[in-house]
Amino acid sequence: MASYECPVCNYIYEESAGAPREGFPAGTAWADIADDWPCPDCGVREKIDFEQKAVS
Ligand SMILES: [Zn+2]
Repeated sequence: MASYECPVCNYIYEESAGAPREGFPAGTAWADIADDWPCPDCGVREKIDFEQKAVS
């Protein structure tokens, strides 16, 4: 699974961990998250601005 990083605050979304606080259980694929989902930490950037970090 992959990880995606917010270019502003370095928040990292990991598919394997999900974001339960945001309503995404562990294992939620990046593709299943809405394109206009804002970064939960800074709220400045949206999903489309995130950068893929790693693939494993
Ligand atoms: Zn952010």
